[in-house]
This record gives sequence, C-alpha cells and structure tokens, in this order.
Amino acid sequence: MTRSSKTSVRVVLLGKPGSGKGTQAALLAERLGAAHLSSGAILRNEITERTPFGKQVEEYVLRGEIGPQELIAAVILGHIERHRYGDAYILDGFPRTVYQARELEARFPPARCILLSVPDDILVRRLAGRLTCSRCGAVFHESDADCRPDGVCARCGGTLRKRADDDTDAIRKRLAVFRTDVEPVIRYYRRTGRLAEIDGTRRISVIHNRILRRVP
Ligand code: AMP
Repeated sequence: MTRSSKTSVRVVLLGKPGSGKGTQAALLAERLGAAHLSSGAILRNEITERTPFGKQVEEYVLRGEIGPQELIAAVILGHIERHRYGDAYILDGFPRTVYQARELEARFPPARCILLSVPDDILVRRLAGRLTCSRCGAVFHESDADCRPDGVCARCGGTLRKRADDDTDAIRKRLAVFRTDVEPVIRYYRRTGRLAEIDGTRRISVIHNRILRRVP
C-alpha cells in the first residue's frame, strides 16, 4: 500500500550505528511512498564523486566523527527542497545534532521520530561483519545465508564492500558521537512527544510492523 501524494509523512529514524536505521528507512519509504534520505549515503556518494563538498567531509566520515554540522544541514535541507521531498521523507542519519534538529524543525518538522534501541555489544558484532553493495546499497552480514562468499551482491550482482568506517576505532568514535550529539536530539524529540522507542533486536519484519503502528 502506498499513500496518496497529498498525505504528508515526515519521519526521522534515530539509533546508534548498526541499529538498522538504513534497513528500516528503506522498507518504510517503500511502504509509505516517501523518499528515503540517508545523510551518510549522500555524503559517501559526494566523496566517491570527488565533489568539493565530498572532499570537505571525507576525513570526518572516515574517522567516524561528526562532519561540519551547519554545512551538512544546508546540503540535506537543500536536497529536500530541491527534490520536493518536504511532505514525504524518511530521514536516516539526520538530524545528528540539536542544531540540525532545529534547522529541520524550522522548515520541515517531522511528525514522528523512531528510536531503534540495540545494546552496544550486538552493534559491534553487526558492524564488524557488515557488507554493503556498492551498486544497490543492499546490506548483508558475513554470517547471512544470502551473503555470497565471492563478494557478489545476491540482489543485483554488484560488488560487496566493507564500509571504511566499520573498523574498530571508527565504530568506537561513532558510538561516542551518539552519546554526545545524538542523545540530546532524542531528548529534544521526547520533550515534544514525538518520540517512539522500538526494540531494534527483533526480526526485520517485526520491527517494520512495530514502526508502522507508530507512524501517524
Ligand atoms: P551513517 O551512514 O549515518 O553512519 O553516517 C556516516 C558518517 O557520515 C558519520 O559517521 C558522519 O561522519 C557523517 N554524517 C552522516 N550524517 C551526518 C550528519 N547529519 N551530520 C554530521 N555528520 C554526518
């Protein structure tokens, strides 16, 4: 089922790295007929394309640090505006700071914010074995039955790669960023009554259904 284009759906997905935001955002976007916007994917694409913006953010992304928050906010909000996604977006990885949350609030305030909760030890295991398709963006884990040992994506035939920031140091940094920068964003949305917390350790389909029940 997709919604009529007149219905607005603005959802922010929050969670630690590896909590399943990308997977759930893609499912939700398809189900609700909204645009899936991953700030990390947008940044990685700019880096691959060697654009001036990509060059500016590359070192932050590789180290797992928060990038220049004002510049990134301007790029993501500009993207929403240019593509007219303002009434139908699923945001994944943005906002990551209270500054970015306020900027989003001023232009396209989200109706619902979903926090996917997963304990750190599970996240570290998930991230250490994570492989992403460089063509279609599908995410696998080395231990998945459908993850081919020859490094070829089972969905599109693209090449599976480990993300450069899925190494131990960058993972530790990204978890620290979550505590210092993203937790205040969670409190910001909780105060306004828009936060729904969901157990991110369940099966993908179970989480998806629980999210659907909490989306207005
Ligand atoms: P992600 O794919 O969401 O894990 O993001 C990968 C990396 O991109 C992060 O570790 C940051 O370096 C950078 N990044 C992504 N989104 C943002 C954001 N909203 N603000 C600042 N940096 C970001």
